[in-house]
Amino acid sequence: MFDNLTQKLTQTFKNLRGQGRLSEDNIRDALREVRLALLEADVALPVVKDFINKVRESALGEEVVKSLSPGQVFIKIVNDELVKLMGEHNDRLDLSARPPAVILLAGLQGSGKTTTSAKLALWLKEKEKKRVMMVSTDVYRPAAMEQLAHLGKDIEVEVFPSRPEQQPVQIAKDALEAAQRGVFDVLIVDTAGRLHVDDAMMAEAQALTAAVQPVELLFVVDAMTGQDAVNTAKAFNDALPLTGVILTKADGDARGGAALSVRAITGKPIKFMGIGEKIRKGLEPFYPDRLASRILGMGDIVSLVEQVQQDVDVEQAQKMTEKLRSGKGFDLEDFRQQLRQLEKMGGMSSIMDKLPGMGELPAEAQAAMQDGKPMRRLEAIINSMTPGERRHPEIIKASRRRRIAAGAGTTVTEVNKLLKQFEMMQKMFKKMGKGGRGLSRLLGMNPK
Ligand code: GDP
Repeated sequence: MFDNLTQKLTQTFKNLRGQGRLSEDNIRDALREVRLALLEADVALPVVKDFINKVRESALGEEVVKSLSPGQVFIKIVNDELVKLMGEHNDRLDLSARPPAVILLAGLQGSGKTTTSAKLALWLKEKEKKRVMMVSTDVYRPAAMEQLAHLGKDIEVEVFPSRPEQQPVQIAKDALEAAQRGVFDVLIVDTAGRLHVDDAMMAEAQALTAAVQPVELLFVVDAMTGQDAVNTAKAFNDALPLTGVILTKADGDARGGAALSVRAITGKPIKFMGIGEKIRKGLEPFYPDRLASRILGMGDIVSLVEQVQQDVDVEQAQKMTEKLRSGKGFDLEDFRQQLRQLEKMGGMSSIMDKLPGMGELPAEAQAAMQDGKPMRRLEAIINSMTPGERRHPEIIKASRRRRIAAGAGTTVTEVNKLLKQFEMMQKMFKKMGKGGRGLSRLLGMNPK
């Protein structure tokens, strides 16, 4: 459904090349396209409105770097806001409770709870090496109980036997006891759904929650149900202390809409996504950035813009220049920032020759800097220092060096080398810092 969003946006901006900034005027059409695309994809109206406002806010005044087009910059902004809306990062399951950690799945009938129970069990077993037990409390549908038993056999995961004439809460309690006795790490409780939200279902889910105290209470929702997903999500979220969401059937075509709305309306993270009927390979952890680029249909634009914009972290560079100008020292904290920056720019040696003053350093120092040690290693060493040590490297004497080396999983020799490199950098920056010009140029800023 989102297929053409990127295309449309690119089209909208076609005549805008050469404009230096995004403005209310030049983004109006683009905002309309985003709005339409979201509505078409069944995203709830309040969510759409809110989203459009956020995109407008971040777009206004945004500078368009020469090597990019306004369309590209705008798409990147939409992407970032999408990612933000969906929670930025993947939220993992919290299984830190004393075992067995109980995971309770709630949702409407047909949303995919039983299938998802098995998928999740298999995922935990294979990826997290957990001992998992499952139980069905769906006493209204004997077929559902059988289905779970069958799936359990298939994936070789223990299923606690339950029968339709039992009470759901009792089944869950017995299963929990059995899981405790059997030293299982995780107990997955599959609950009964109804075709529509109703009080009896909620009351039962609440009773089950009270009885087995799940660490994860996951709302299972069918991505294909569009606007309905929003109402259902709201009802479940109001009635139950949900810890997260599993979005099933994301392999169908309405994949974006429900994800956006459900996350925005419940405020709960989507932890997994169902992507097929198969138990194996039918579930994957939910990554907001991946979904965002799928919604936009053009991940490559986003990474292109990221590359261009991040090659030079302007704000960082500005701070650094000011720091040097003001005469305040260059410390290991700065060195670490510098390393990160340099890494983005393609590594130390690739910019060595661009560094003014490099030729004047003793050959030994140049070699030390060009050592070729991956910068991550250097960063690891700095990471294992205390903030005080980073700010005052001169206090790093022998015993501290040993501790730092151990912390970074390396040798004292490596720590010594790094400190030596740092000293060289410090000298060099002091020299360059006089006018701040060399550094500014290095970091891609215009010397003032
Ligand atoms: P429950 O009533 O909530 O337990 O739902 P079920 O687990 O019985 O699933 C209902 C239907 O949805 C079944 O036909 C499943 O195969 C299907 N299903 C579940 N998850 C997915 C998914 O991620 N993708 C697809 N395409 N189908 C799914």
